[in-house]
Amino acid sequence: MTILQQLKNAVRQRSIHVCYVNTGSCNGCDIEILACLAPRYDIEQYGIYVHNNPREADVILVTGGMSPQWIDKLPDLWDRVPEPKAVVTIGNCPISGCVFNRPGKLIDPPVSKYIPVTAAVPGCPPRPSEIISAILGAADILFKDYEVHQKEKEGGLKK
Ligand code: SF4
Repeated sequence: MTILQQLKNAVRQRSIHVCYVNTGSCNGCDIEILACLAPRYDIEQYGIYVHNNPREADVILVTGGMSPQWIDKLPDLWDRVPEPKAVVTIGNCPISGCVFNRPGKLIDPPVSKYIPVTAAVPGCPPRPSEIISAILGAADILFKDYEVHQKEKEGGLKK
C-alpha cells in the first residue's frame, strides 16, 4: 500500500462522507439537512462531510418518496458506492410517501424496496439533531470491519 493510500485510509477511518439524494421531496427535509451544515449544528465538527459523489461516499442520505425517475437510478447509484456503506433515509416520505401518498400518486415508497436502508429518521421534517445522530449511528457499521474491507479491496486491485 502506498503512503498516500495509507494516509487516505487513516483520514477516512475518522470521517464519514455523505452523498445526498433527493428522490422527490417537498424540500422540507432538504432544508433541515442544509441546517446541519450551518454554524448552529456544524455537521463537519463530527467529521461528517456532505457532497454528491457516490464513488467517494460512505453513506447515502435519501429524502423523498421515490418518483418514477429514481426507480432505476437509485439502485444504480447505490451500486457505485464502495463497501462498507450504509443508507439513511430522512423524513416520512422515504418510509410512506407522507402527504404525497394519495390516490393517483406517481411516487412508489418505501425506499427500502430499492436499496437496503440502514436507518430511517421519521418526521415531517425531522430535526437536524436527529439527522446527525442517525448518520453517526451508521459509523459503527461503516468502520466495524474497515481494515478487512481495505485488505479485500487491495487484494482485488492486485489481481
Ligand atoms: S417528510 Fe415532510 S418535509 Fe420531508 S419531504 Fe416529505 S413532505 Fe416534505
